[in-house]
Amino acid sequence: MTHPSVAKLQALVRIPTVSNRDPDLIDVAAFDEFVAELARQFPMLHKRLELTRVDTHGLLFHWAGRSSERPVVLMAHLDVVPVEEDAPWQHPPFGAEIHDGAVWGRGTLDDKGELVAICVAVENLLELGFTPEQDVWLSFGCNEEVSGSSAVLAVEELRRRGVEPWFVIDEGGAIASEAFPGVSAPVGVVGVTEKGVTSLELRVDGRGGHASTPKRNGPTVRLAKALTKLDRHQMAASVPEPTIELLRRMAPHAPRALRPLMANADKMRPVLTRALIAAGAEPAAMTRTTFAITTLSGSPALNVIASTAKAGVNIRIMVGDTVAGVIDHVRKSVDDDQVEIDVIEQNEPSPVSPYDDAAFGLIESTITEVFPDAIPAPYVMMAATDSRFFTEICSRVYRFAPFRMTKAQRESIHSYDEHLGVDAFIDGVRWYQRLIERIPR
Ligand SMILES: [Zn+2]
Repeated sequence: MTHPSVAKLQALVRIPTVSNRDPDLIDVAAFDEFVAELARQFPMLHKRLELTRVDTHGLLFHWAGRSSERPVVLMAHLDVVPVEEDAPWQHPPFGAEIHDGAVWGRGTLDDKGELVAICVAVENLLELGFTPEQDVWLSFGCNEEVSGSSAVLAVEELRRRGVEPWFVIDEGGAIASEAFPGVSAPVGVVGVTEKGVTSLELRVDGRGGHASTPKRNGPTVRLAKALTKLDRHQMAASVPEPTIELLRRMAPHAPRALRPLMANADKMRPVLTRALIAAGAEPAAMTRTTFAITTLSGSPALNVIASTAKAGVNIRIMVGDTVAGVIDHVRKSVDDDQVEIDVIEQNEPSPVSPYDDAAFGLIESTITEVFPDAIPAPYVMMAATDSRFFTEICSRVYRFAPFRMTKAQRESIHSYDEHLGVDAFIDGVRWYQRLIERIPR
């Protein structure tokens, strides 16, 4: 028989809450249904916690504790990314079928697994008559995947109520196996900061015209030159402090030959930086701001010279760099004042949350209690989460999903064959439950 809390996860994964940047393309009925189904699955939670709706389908629950001095916020989001048409899913993406001891479907890892695990933990505790020592807020966004405004509005609502969270936990991080070559123990990675996402558009305007009488160095060529220059010039690389700490903590579990390097990571920064860059695109991204040239447009016809050529650049800004510094770097690298640089979106990297105080200690010791084989450690998150908006009202923002995930599972996020182990889900519920129980006075 299926575990009752797993059945709840299945019911909610089956509702295709796919987000879209274009509001007209959103299946509002699915979102309505999700909110209604959540209320059906978690009656105690909905009866006892105060609910404020934010944005279209964002949910902000308030669970009054014995004190409201040091409130804790648990976050998740209820929207999911679309399923690509020919993606070779082994099982239907909105079927939530159980195969090989796992629930398969879009959103099981990102982020309905977390959302449902939080709700099950709260429901269990309510049934036990438990009251947390501090206020607990649950903030569930409805448009995380399209950088929508629901998290921003939740932050506004909390600010309006004068809530200053002690700490916040959102998605990102995991009990990650195969996280580092040669380290056999899983690593409980807790994101203490995330890169900033900024997008620029490079544009060259000029005279278009007939392709039979071309002039040299037209807009398209100038743009192409700018892009190749940008591709050649990287920003300075280094290994940030949380990564040093991550390496240090993994050192005792690493192959003997690597241990001294990892244990003394802080003194070996230049060597480490070069090693990470040489190890491939993914480790290299841990050391610096990255520039990805994404969109590209020019002439619409083969026999027409473009009068405007444009390219989009998606930038992930490393902790320590700034939006202004990045724009300056692009301008200098391109070195052509005919290339216009427009900022389309900008986000600074998030401030680094402390990983040497009581809040992190609570997260860490709860990891050790529920996952005794795991090494808890801070890390720098490469992707963006809704929690970045919470850094405005809270200095301790952590990104951690208490689920065991293999490398293949981590790669399935935003891709295909996303699945969450049934046992992993149950452990995750226990983690949230223990965390809430252990919140001190
Ligand atoms: Zn997510």
